[in-house]
Amino acid sequence: MNADNLTICLRCGSDACYTTEVNDKITNYSCFGCGFQSNSLMKQGEEFLSEQLESLPELYKDLLFEDENGQGWLPQTINLPEQGMIFANGGNSEDWKWAAVRAVEVKDEEKTKYPIPDKKDEFYKHRMDMTTMEMFEERDFIDALSYIGVLPE
Ligand SMILES: [Zn+2]
Repeated sequence: MNADNLTICLRCGSDACYTTEVNDKITNYSCFGCGFQSNSLMKQGEEFLSEQLESLPELYKDLLFEDENGQGWLPQTINLPEQGMIFANGGNSEDWKWAAVRAVEVKDEEKTKYPIPDKKDEFYKHRMDMTTMEMFEERDFIDALSYIGVLPE
């Protein structure tokens, strides 16, 4: 991570917003402080934003935050088959937490339970172990990342 790319998050105010310029029109924002992400196309009324919202759970729509520039922010969803996943989990924007689930290796004797779709005799090497699910407060997103091994503990 390049420190030059860390900016102040317009959602939570932390200085841990990882900013990537994709091109002169598109910049991605991914905040390690609050776990939310945005990009310069996510503006109210833009097709990009409405398309994204269509495929998201109600909770994410509920959590959509609009910053001072009219840019929308949504919770990140992390899905790393070999490490684990993190997603916003809860009933509504007043009552939710980050859920972090660790991936585990599929044992030989159970591999037939995890076939790769459309492939013959190929099986997943890792699976999400829901029994490892831990909940983290919004501001503890970074601890959720550590929990699944993305960041050192
Ligand atoms: Zn933030």
